[in-house]
This record gives sequence, C-alpha cells and structure tokens, in this order.
Amino acid sequence: MKNLIVQKYGGTSVGDIDRIKNVARRVIETKKSGKKVVVVVSAMGDTTDDLVEMAYAISENPHKREMDMLLSTGEQVSIALLAMAIQSMDEEVISLTGAQCGIITSSRHSKAKIDEINTERLEKELNSGKIVIVAGFQGVNKDMDITTLGRGGSDTTAVALAAALHAERCQIFTDVDGVYTADPRIVPTAKKIHAISYDEVLELASLGAKVLHPRSVEMAGKYNVPLEVKSSFNNNEGTIIGEVDLMEKVLIRGISLDENIAKISVMEVPDKPGIAFNLFSLLAGADIHVDMIVQNVNRNNVNDITFTVALDELQNAVEIAQKFAFEVGAEKVEYDKGVAKLSVVGTGVVANAEVASKFFEALYEIGVNIQMISTSEIKISCIIDKALGKEAMKHIHDKFNM
Ligand code: ASP
Ligand code: MG
Repeated sequence: MKNLIVQKYGGTSVGDIDRIKNVARRVIETKKSGKKVVVVVSAMGDTTDDLVEMAYAISENPHKREMDMLLSTGEQVSIALLAMAIQSMDEEVISLTGAQCGIITSSRHSKAKIDEINTERLEKELNSGKIVIVAGFQGVNKDMDITTLGRGGSDTTAVALAAALHAERCQIFTDVDGVYTADPRIVPTAKKIHAISYDEVLELASLGAKVLHPRSVEMAGKYNVPLEVKSSFNNNEGTIIGEVDLMEKVLIRGISLDENIAKISVMEVPDKPGIAFNLFSLLAGADIHVDMIVQNVNRNNVNDITFTVALDELQNAVEIAQKFAFEVGAEKVEYDKGVAKLSVVGTGVVANAEVASKFFEALYEIGVNIQMISTSEIKISCIIDKALGKEAMKHIHDKFNM
C-alpha cells in the first residue's frame, strides 16, 4: 500500500494518560503529513507483568490458553484509550484486536507464530481514511482462540503488518533514542548508531541489547521491511535498520553483554561417536536453547563438554545433563551462574584478525580470564566472570574508540 507507515509504541510510551495523548498527537501529525497510518501498541507500562503476577497468585501452573486470554487484555486497554484520545482530537480512527485485523497464528499458546494476515479489514479501514490502531502481541489460531506471540511480541506484530501491507516503513517508538554501540546505562560514552544491518542488530538484540524483539528483526530482514527505532519522547533522529550493502562498512558496530546466562559442564564423558548428539538432542527435545558449545579433549578417552544456556533454563538443563551423565557414565555435571557473555558485533569483525586480538588484549589488560570463545560471521563472543562484565565492556568500548 502506497504512503503507508506502520508505527509501534511500546509500553512505556503509552504508560499513562498524558503519554497516550502524546502518542495520539504524534500519530495525527504523521497522518497530516499525508500518510496512511497503522499504529501498533503494547500494554500500558507494567500491565503485562501485573497480569502475569495475578495469574500466578491464583495458580502455580496457569493453563496457557487462559494465560493468553488474560495477557491479551493489556493491549486491548491501550488500543481503546488511544483511539479515544485520537477521536477527542477530531481525527477518524478505529481500534482493532489481533483477530479483527486478521492475524492468524499457530496454536502454540504464549509463543505463537504468525501464519498469515488477512488484510481486507485493515485495507478497508485505511482506504476509508481512518487511522487504524492495532493491539500488539496477539492473534487468533484457526479455532479462533486468542494467542500471544511471546513477551515483547508487539514489535513482531508491527513488522508483520508492515510486511503484509507493503508499508513504506515500520517505525518502532520506544523509551530510548535508538540502537547504541553499547548499553548507555553501562557505558556512558556509548554512541547512537545511525544505520545498522538486520544481522548486526539481531546479534545486538539477542545478545542483550534488548532494543527490539529478535523475532521482529528476523522478520524485517526476511521481508525487507525498512525499520526505524526512535524515541517517543523527542524528535531526535533514531537508528535505521536495513540491508547490509546499504550500510557504511565498519569494523565493529557495537558491543553487548548478556548476563542472563549460565555455563554447564559435563565432565569426563566417553570419547566416542554419538555422545554429543545424544546430549544435545535431549536438550533440544526439552526446548532448551543451547548457545556456545566447547569440547575439550582429555587423555584416557574422555572429554569435557561445556555449553551455555539462558539462566531461566539452567535448572531444566542441569537435570537433563545429570541424567545423561549417569547413563553414559560421565564423571559429573558442574554448573556456574556467575558468567556473562561479552561480544563485539560488526560485519568486519571476523574478516579482520586484528579485532580478535585487540578484544583479547583488552580483556588481558584488566585481568579478565576468558572461559570460552566463539565466533560467527559477524561477532566474537567470550564467556567471562559476570562480576567483571560491566568493567570489561567499558574497557573494550574505550579500546576500540567507538
Ligand atoms: N505487552 C507485552 C509484553 O509486555 C508485549 C509487548 O510489550 O510487546 O511482553
Ligand atoms: Mg511490554
């Protein structure tokens, strides 16, 4: 659709009535600049967290279908209030739930994936000149049961709508000015990045920069939706996220620190084919995402296998590893919550050997021991002592003069 912009406002941006009115003014401004506008909103402030808390106060194990029924109400409050705010400013507007705007998802409650979007209703409303406000984070499955897309999923709703409607652009308005070279709360000298590729921001987001929901970036890359991250509180220029070849080539785009991980080691497993397959298929079967994996060769036909998982999956993963260790006759399982993953991200990182050596040198300079190393096409990551993570991040940021 020509001249269409999809805007998404997060929970903080619609956190109270004044902020909702502020969003209403911004949306109207965009409309008046000659655009069609679809606005996706999250639940106000901490609403979703509060709803989750209520559910767990009632049941230790709330049914996922009912959980989605509950959590989706947060966004419904926001869309109705925003639509009212826009109406009170004399603009034509309509609010729609996920179901009403044709967002059909898989049935996996609390983690549903969008299968298709039937855009007829949306197009009808847009063509009649209305601003359309859509509840983020939700859809319906084939049985018309309400589903949600996973925490932070409103970004994904916005990108999916932008892709389905062939919008000109998808703007994500949030409480930060854009994507930074490092978390500015930890590294005060961090700078805003003007433009960054989908792949790079994906590494920064999933490594802990938390600006955008990773799935939304994946989807934007897949459907080539130009993304823009901006503050909803000022008019500063934000960060543009797009194709890599449009980007200015830099060695390092950013640094990220993930403190929500843990390290598990299975000691002295027999050195024979099928062992790693056995362990990691058990973990995959339990839906546990394993990140870094290192295998050390010992003497006497045994290996140590070490890997990292998200902190909230540690207990599950350790139980599986212990069962596995017992079955194959490994010596023991050890784990460590006191670790963090520090990464440098950029399209030039791996091609240039100097980056790795400078990264390791920086860690050496402040006496940080590297426990594991991994590389991908656009990043180098080290597992280090969590207590030293923030200091290391600052030092590396300085060292690379970002
Ligand atoms: N309200 C949901 C959450 O807090 C979705 C979102 O904010 O994107 O996770
Ligand atoms: Mg939220």
